[in-house]
Amino acid sequence: DAVISCQDLAMTYAEGSLRTHVFHGLDLEVRKGETVAILGASGAGKSTLLHLLGGLDTPTAGEVFVAGQKMSALSDAARGALRNRALGFVYQFHHLLPEFTALENVMLPVLLSGADVSEASKRSQSLLESVGLGHRLQHKPGELSGGERQRAAVARALVNKPACVLGDEPTGNLDEKTAATVFELMLALNHEQHTSLVLVTHDRRLARRLDRVMELHEGKLRQLSHDEV
Ligand code: ADP
Ligand code: ADP
Repeated sequence: DAVISCQDLAMTYAEGSLRTHVFHGLDLEVRKGETVAILGASGAGKSTLLHLLGGLDTPTAGEVFVAGQKMSALSDAARGALRNRALGFVYQFHHLLPEFTALENVMLPVLLSGADVSEASKRSQSLLESVGLGHRLQHKPGELSGGERQRAAVARALVNKPACVLGDEPTGNLDEKTAATVFELMLALNHEQHTSLVLVTHDRRLARRLDRVMELHEGKLRQLSHDEV
């Protein structure tokens, strides 16, 4: 069954008298462990869709379900807790906290979920080791290379064993070789944990590596066959 889904989702941005109608009537269902790419031109609404799926923004119409829970029915606090427990986020820019070490950055979501410090430290350290950052635990983001920062961000996204990771061009800011390494690492860890992945990307080569490829075009979400990608 679905770990994350939306039904009849619509989003219109309103700024003064200006209305930007991004999409309406979108349906998407992502099963446990399934990996889904969302392709689409710049401005097609990919980030908007990901924000709505992650409960970071409220749709104009329609519903989002995360781990069986209707997002609109939850209080802000409950939605925040669900997001921290059931979802992981990786963006184009790492969004690590600059004053904290790699280890502390990864520990944060674990601590927020109620685990104690030693448990959080143990799990975070082990995950940082599996992304190849075992020797960078005490480094702050500013002391890490671009690829290392994104690997730390991947570790942070996965540390609570979420049902689904939402990725918005997570390797878009890296050179091709580093991007490929970080992407393969993320995919391998997702598979290992049976975590679903919804990945917004404009890179068709990356998209082709996932189970399903969707294209957002003129407000419609269409599934592409792997031959079309
Ligand atoms: P993509 O991620 O595919 O590039 P976005 O979801 O960022 O597309 O944007 C879709 C459309 O919505 C664009 O026309 C964009 O200008 C508009 N948009 C995005 N965010 C906002 C916002 N906060 N306020 C107004 N319009 C927005
Ligand atoms: P890249 O070659 O990927 O651009 P950098 O030249 O930024 O990487 O960094 C090379 C290595 O040195 C990285 O592994 C990084 O962790 C480490 N490093 C970079 N800056 C610092 C710093 N200020 N303090 C400690 N280690 C650093």
